[in-house]
Amino acid sequence: MQKEDNLKDIISHAKEYGFVFPSSEIYDGLSATYDYGQLGVELKNNIKSYWWKSMVQMNENIVGLDSAIFMHPTTWKASGHIDAFNDPLIDNKDSKKRYRADVLLEEHIEKYRAKIDKDVNKGIKRFGDDFDKDQFLATNPNVLRNKAKIEDVEQRMKDTLGKDDLEGVYNLIMDLGIVCPISGTKNWTEVRQFNLMFSTELGSVSGEAAKIYLRPETAQGIFVNFLNVQKTGRMKIPFGIAQIGKAFRNEIVARQFIFRMREFEQMEMQFFVRPGEEMKWYEYWKKQRIAWHNKLGLGEENYRFHDHIKLAHYANAAADIEFNFPMGFKELEGVHSRTDFDLKQHEEHSGKKLQFFDPEMNKNYVPYVVETSIGLDRMFLAILSSSFKTETLENDTERVVLSLPPALAPYKVAVMPLTKKDGLPEKAREIVNELKFDHNCAYDEKDSPGKRYRRQDAIGTPYCVMIDHQTMEDNTVTIRDRDTMEQERVSIDELTSIIGAKVSMTNLLR
Ligand code: ATP
Repeated sequence: MQKEDNLKDIISHAKEYGFVFPSSEIYDGLSATYDYGQLGVELKNNIKSYWWKSMVQMNENIVGLDSAIFMHPTTWKASGHIDAFNDPLIDNKDSKKRYRADVLLEEHIEKYRAKIDKDVNKGIKRFGDDFDKDQFLATNPNVLRNKAKIEDVEQRMKDTLGKDDLEGVYNLIMDLGIVCPISGTKNWTEVRQFNLMFSTELGSVSGEAAKIYLRPETAQGIFVNFLNVQKTGRMKIPFGIAQIGKAFRNEIVARQFIFRMREFEQMEMQFFVRPGEEMKWYEYWKKQRIAWHNKLGLGEENYRFHDHIKLAHYANAAADIEFNFPMGFKELEGVHSRTDFDLKQHEEHSGKKLQFFDPEMNKNYVPYVVETSIGLDRMFLAILSSSFKTETLENDTERVVLSLPPALAPYKVAVMPLTKKDGLPEKAREIVNELKFDHNCAYDEKDSPGKRYRRQDAIGTPYCVMIDHQTMEDNTVTIRDRDTMEQERVSIDELTSIIGAKVSMTNLLR
């Protein structure tokens, strides 16, 4: 199946089963805004819980925060967002479509990467087990040519984007012959900067003084509360503050489903460290974060690190964790060494000291910060897209299955009476009433067992429990595993522990 088709199928599956709906759909929707339905909200909450527990519950020196979306407008002056939270945009005059200039360039680089991958695959096909990938990558003339092209474009991106040389960015796009994917022409406008923050007005006062912003990142709420948390929580460096919450960006191009939205949710953790120790912690958090992802079992080959070419104004090192989405490898999470930029800026603009007295060093300093920042919606898409499978079964029928990590599945178990009579529904309800203390349970008595199993496969329920006539005699049920489709007869008394063992979040956290 084509990857882009796959995205279409995922979008319709997500809608059909109540994971994600277009926002205000009865009015034909609002672009790049989505609502999470009855199953979507469960999956989303479970992702949040996995992240929160792994940060706050598992680390003595990390605590949480829930700061307001609105902040004093000076916050954004201090953070640099008013002056520099821009994306370079470019319009194609023929298609009238707008693009991010840096994204056009990144996509151009991807084409060279795809050529390298193609050559590697050809080599594998031709030489089989004898194929030495490392040697091929180091010596093949085609590969070397494409590698050189990548390096050249990356260098020129650094020289232009990195220095806000918009004319240089335009020239680079023209030199590379990049065309608009819609019109196929190079009839581009000049490159301009576009500020991504949404603004609104406070109360009844009008004019500049009342202008406030919807936060474009949750991080600043953490920085302005640095001392509040440090003092009241008696935190000692190194320590972290974690926060999950909405962020808003007036994205130039918002497409690809929930990958790029104008209202989205972030899970961010700012880790405060001694100046000079930030690189050690930067490496530490890169390792921790990739381990968090790998525990989910979505496939280690679906992740890769990508070092930033253009460092943000506040960073001295930054890497993205990219995921193999249906649209290809794209940013899922960022790990950034933000230096002491933010705290220093807030000191300067507020006139308040934001420092830590380090008893071991016997001195005050402004801590350095290493940040991990992941988009909750992008994580949702990563999980949904890599779990969505169509399988052909032994009898040549097909099933659609969401092989969600069990701990994240909306329902952990579906309880079903084989028939609607002979007291089976009552027995099934009795079982639900017991299991629901520990697990989110579905109850389903409609249609044939096969159809009911398919419905649960399609929403990723790890277990189905069937109550039949034998249950009434010996207090046993069959329990069916979503992935193997195998059924086992077990005693009702064992259900809680069997299900618990597989779906427990502890499996992910340990
Ligand atoms: P991109 O380059 O894709 O615009 P970014 O580098 O601007 O992303 P960050 O500022 O590092 O993103 O934000 C941290 C995380 O927030 C990203 O890794 C991503 O998962 C998420 N995120 C950022 N913008 C959006 C958006 N418009 N919609 C959904 N998630 C987003």
